[in-house]
Amino acid sequence: MAAQEVSPIAAAHGARAAFTSGRTAETRWRRDQLAALDLLLADNGSAIEAALQSDLGKHPLETHTIEIGSVRSEIAVTLKSLAEWTKPREVVAPDYLLPATASTVLQPLGTVLIISPWNYPVHLLLMPLVGAIAAGNAVVVKPSELAPQTSHLMAKLFPAYLDSDAVRLVEGAVDETTELLEFPWDHIFYTGNGTVAKIIMAAAAKHLTPVTLELGGKSPVWIDESADVDAAAGWLAWGKLLNAGQTCIAPDYVLATPAVVDPLVEALVRHTAEMYGDDPHASADFGRIVNARHVDRLAGLLGSGVTVIGGQSDHEDRFVAPTVLRDVTFDDPVMSDEIFGPILPIVTVADADEAIAFINSRDKPLALYCFTERTDVRTAFLERTASGGIAINATMAQAGIDGLPFGGVGASGTGAYHGERSVRVFSHERAVLHKLDGPHHAQASWAPYTDEKQRMLRGPVSGASQEP
Ligand code: NAD
Repeated sequence: MAAQEVSPIAAAHGARAAFTSGRTAETRWRRDQLAALDLLLADNGSAIEAALQSDLGKHPLETHTIEIGSVRSEIAVTLKSLAEWTKPREVVAPDYLLPATASTVLQPLGTVLIISPWNYPVHLLLMPLVGAIAAGNAVVVKPSELAPQTSHLMAKLFPAYLDSDAVRLVEGAVDETTELLEFPWDHIFYTGNGTVAKIIMAAAAKHLTPVTLELGGKSPVWIDESADVDAAAGWLAWGKLLNAGQTCIAPDYVLATPAVVDPLVEALVRHTAEMYGDDPHASADFGRIVNARHVDRLAGLLGSGVTVIGGQSDHEDRFVAPTVLRDVTFDDPVMSDEIFGPILPIVTVADADEAIAFINSRDKPLALYCFTERTDVRTAFLERTASGGIAINATMAQAGIDGLPFGGVGASGTGAYHGERSVRVFSHERAVLHKLDGPHHAQASWAPYTDEKQRMLRGPVSGASQEP
C-alpha cells in the first residue's frame, strides 16, 4: 500500500509538490486521471462489491448502481462537458474602459483534502474526487475507518491506477485526520456529521482554508389525505430501508394528518413485505448496521410510540428490523437526533401549518419530502420552509439529477456539488480584465478633481458603476 508508506502530513506535502509542478492543471492530466478512475471502477467491480458486502451487508446490485454506476456516470458527464464547463466566460466591459475585454477564468484551487464517511464509502469518496481532479487539483482523500474493507481496497487500488504523487489516499481515523488538518489546504471537502464538521471548520479557520461541509440531520416527510398514500408508502419504504436507513437524505420521520395514518401504515406493511419478505432478517437484500455501537443506539430508539412493523434488533448480526412507529410525539427520543437507521416514526399533526411550524423550529434539513396533490400545501412547503433540497411526491431521487445542486443549508451543510458544480467547488473563478491599446475614459475619474470632472461625475448615474 504505497499510499500508507508515508505519514499523513508527508502525503499532504507530496501532493502539494505535485501541484506545484504544474502538471495537474493540464487538461490532458485531468482527462487521463478521470479515465484512470473510471478504469479502476470498471476493472474492480467484484472486489468493491465484496468489500461493501463485508462492511455494510450491502447487496452487490446496490453497490453496482449507487456506489460504482453513479460515479462512472459522473465521470462520463464530466469528460463530455469539461471543455464547456471550464472555458473562460466573457462579461461586458464598461464603456469607460473600452477598448477592453473582461472574462472569468477557472483556476484549480491547489492541494485539496476530501474526508468521507462510511455509509456510501465509495460514492462519497469518489464523487467529490471527480470534481477535484476535473478542476486540476492535487488531492488527498481520507476514507472512513468505519468501512475498513472498502478503505483498504481503495488504498491498494489508488496507486495502481492514479498518479500516485498527485492523487493520494491516506487511511486512518481521528489521529491521522487530526494530523492532516494541520496542513494549510487550499480547500477541505468534508462529508459526515455536524459535530466533527465543527472540528474541521475550526482547523480550517487557522489557515483561512475554505470548506465544503456535506452534513445530515432529520429530513422530514409531509403526507396529507390528498396524496396517493400507496405511492408515498412505496417511496418511503425504499428511501428508509435502502442501506438499512443509513443514508443522509433518507426520510427521517413522517408528519401526517389523522386520516392518513391507518392507510399509510397498511401500505407500509405491504411495501416492506414486497421488498424484503416476511422475514427481513433472512433477506439478502436488506443491509446491516455499520457497527454494534450503532445497533445499540438504534435499539434505544425503539421504545417510542406504538410499534406497528418490526421492532427487533440483533446486536451480534448488526441487524435492526425495518420498523414503523406510530403515535410518536414531538418529545419522544426518536424525534431528537438523526435516526440513520431503518426506523420510521409517524407523528400525527392537525394540518400543514402545524407541520411547517415544527419543521421550522428545528435545524434546516438536508432534504424535505412532501406528498400532496394540493397546490396550496405544496406552495406553503416551497415558500415557508428551507432545506438543502425538496422533492414533491418522491424521496431521494433528487440526488441523482446531476443538474441539481447536492448539499445542505445551515446545520445540514455548506456548499453543494455534483456535475458542473463539483468543478466549481474546487476552482477559483478568477476575474480577468484585458485593457487593449487605445484611448479610454477611465482617466475622467482620476485626480486632479477639476470642476469639470466634478460636474461630470456628480451628474445622474448612468448604467455601470464607476471604478472603486
Ligand atoms: P464517520 O464516522 O465515518 O466520519 C466521517 C469522517 O470524519 C471519517 O473519515 C472520520 O475518520 C472523520 N472523523 C471522525 N472523527 C473525527 C475527528 N474527531 N476529527 C477529525 N476527523 C474525524 O461518518 P459519520 O460522521 O458518522 O457519517 C454519518 C453522518 O454523515 C450522518 O449525519 C449523515 O447524515 C452524514 N452524511 C452526509 C452526507 C451528505 O452528502 N450530506 C452523506 C453521507 C453522510
